[in-house]
Amino acid sequence: MNRQWIYANRPVGPVSPDNFEYRESPVPEPGDGQALVRLCWLSFEPAMRTWMEDFITYMPPAPLGQPMIGPGVCQVVASDTPDLQVGDLVSGMMSWQDYHVVDGTARKVPPETPIPVMLGPLGGTGLTAYIGLLDIGRPQPGDTVLVSGAAGATGSVTAQIARIKGCRAVGIAGGADKCRWLLDEARLDEAIDYKNEDVDDRLAEACGDGVDVYFDNVGGDLLETVLGHMNQGGRIAACGAISTYNQGLRRPGPANMFQFIEKRLTLQGFVMFDHMERVPAAQEDLGRWVADGEIAFQTDIQSGFENIPSTFLRLFSGANQGKQLLKVRDPEPC
Ligand code: NAP
Repeated sequence: MNRQWIYANRPVGPVSPDNFEYRESPVPEPGDGQALVRLCWLSFEPAMRTWMEDFITYMPPAPLGQPMIGPGVCQVVASDTPDLQVGDLVSGMMSWQDYHVVDGTARKVPPETPIPVMLGPLGGTGLTAYIGLLDIGRPQPGDTVLVSGAAGATGSVTAQIARIKGCRAVGIAGGADKCRWLLDEARLDEAIDYKNEDVDDRLAEACGDGVDVYFDNVGGDLLETVLGHMNQGGRIAACGAISTYNQGLRRPGPANMFQFIEKRLTLQGFVMFDHMERVPAAQEDLGRWVADGEIAFQTDIQSGFENIPSTFLRLFSGANQGKQLLKVRDPEPC
């Protein structure tokens, strides 16, 4: 039996469990040169909400009536390709179902790295933080770097790289607990609780000399507020806009666009997978910083196939404490 969570209907407004439907189907048959793999872990990204729209973003829309697509780690259970052995772990774009058919080009997971670390700070969000901050934001030592979504998977690594690079690192996150973690564990200079504090006032205090680099994970009203605190020549790395994802992405931009002219600001959007040539250097630095304890990270591990849709929704309420993962099963030892 192949359990599946089907992308059943398009959300209008916030994504809800009703957008997905549970189904059971026969286990697929791999063909020549293919392997059958079984789902072990799923990783969740806010951008998956944008893949549920009916227009092309940087990804084609997720197909309705099919298992919802998303990144994951699977284990090979039968193989007809010399490139994959039974027991191997593979990662990449999977979907919300127990079984998948892959070919020999599937990316093997290095056995020595724990899966939550591989999917977390050394995975896509860690790489996004590294490339987005260092190549797009281009901070200089002494700069004030402001990061929104700062307690999340991407933001927490970003803010800590800023600290490592000799910048003043300021994070914005929702709630006292997340802000406490940013100060005590991630060792940022300041943390602003956007759910309980006046962000404009707090930015004036925490970034009294202005913001040189803003790493934006949130977009929307917060971007507008931050523009008022940017320094001359400031740079904005537009990584994500989670505050808009449940609104269909098509909301008006900031009302204070003239700030760009007055302050000679640059805003550059980026998508991590356009920068694959930077991955080896990023993995080497991130691996060393994680091993040395320079980068603290949190992984939020839910479990159970039945909880896949509700786990995805945690990203939008802020219930996730760090990188959102779900374990379906442990890989079989081999
Ligand atoms: P994450 O930060 O671990 O989780 C999402 C967090 O967003 C939540 O924990 C919540 O934190 C915050 N949030 C949710 N709704 C919000 C709202 N309306 N306003 C403000 N904050 C809100 O997720 P992630 O995977 O690291 O992704 C973070 C951002 O990076 C997303 O925008 C994502 O699309 C983007 N991203 C971009 C790329 C790229 O290549 N450009 C790659 C990966 C991710 P609080 O509790 O603090 O509200």
